Amino acid sequence: MAFVQFENVSLAYQPGGQTAIENVSFKVDENAFVAVVGPSGCGKSTLMKLVSGLKPASEGYVYVGNREVTGPLGIVGMAFQQANLLPWRTTLQNVMLPLEIVEPFRSQQKRQRCEHEAMARALLAKVGLAGCEDKFPWELSGGMQQRASICRALIHKPRLLMLDEPFGALDAFTREELWCLMRDLWQSEPFTAILVTHDLREAVFLADRVIVMSPKPGRIIDDRLVDLPRPRP
Ligand code: ADP
Ligand code: ADP
Repeated sequence: MAFVQFENVSLAYQPGGQTAIENVSFKVDENAFVAVVGPSGCGKSTLMKLVSGLKPASEGYVYVGNREVTGPLGIVGMAFQQANLLPWRTTLQNVMLPLEIVEPFRSQQKRQRCEHEAMARALLAKVGLAGCEDKFPWELSGGMQQRASICRALIHKPRLLMLDEPFGALDAFTREELWCLMRDLWQSEPFTAILVTHDLREAVFLADRVIVMSPKPGRIIDDRLVDLPRPRP
């Protein structure tokens, strides 16, 4: 059963204006890891906005988990090129943020807060950030900030993880470390992942399937399974 489905989706940012993506159809199976690649302007960000419910389709239908997407979804975790950690919150507090949004802080039982904190600490340890819980974002390197932002995206155990170039701003060594980490996280706990990137090497390393888009207007021009022996960490 497909978990994400696009049916002949087009989107024009201005009503009646040029289409950013045109007649895009694809399905993503539950717990698959799919990469969408293509040059700048091919509609990768537009696709992310449609899946996460931040933009409605001008034409066609977008379904996630068998329901038509009509607004922002709680079951989606997101990570972007910039880690976007809140500077006045510690690493631990940043990671716990989605749990507070789902359930406002003041209405939480003390016991539940302790559980949430334990979950966040465990996840931080898993990504190699044990000991950084009480540090503020500016005390972390770019790679560490991105690790924390991935924890924040996963803390509420989303069924769908949307990755918008989260490794793009990192140096080559850190980037490959985080690729391995992402692959491990995905293998240790099932979730559907959609990664948009212009880095074909990254797409092939991480994803089981690569969708290629071309710009003006954004269209799918190729869609194939990746069947390569993978370097394992
Ligand atoms: P990326 O290539 O990483 O998606 P862009 O530079 O294309 O980044 O876009 C950055 C932001 O500007 C995005 O939020 C995008 O929606 C917006 N944007 C891109 N192109 C246009 C445009 N032609 N008019 C208005 N906003 C745009
Ligand atoms: P990518 O993420 O692959 O760089 P985008 O989805 O950002 O591509 O953009 C697809 C097309 O839509 C581009 O032609 C871009 O200029 C246009 N676009 C993106 N965001 C906006 C916007 N907010 N307003 C108008 N046009 C936009």
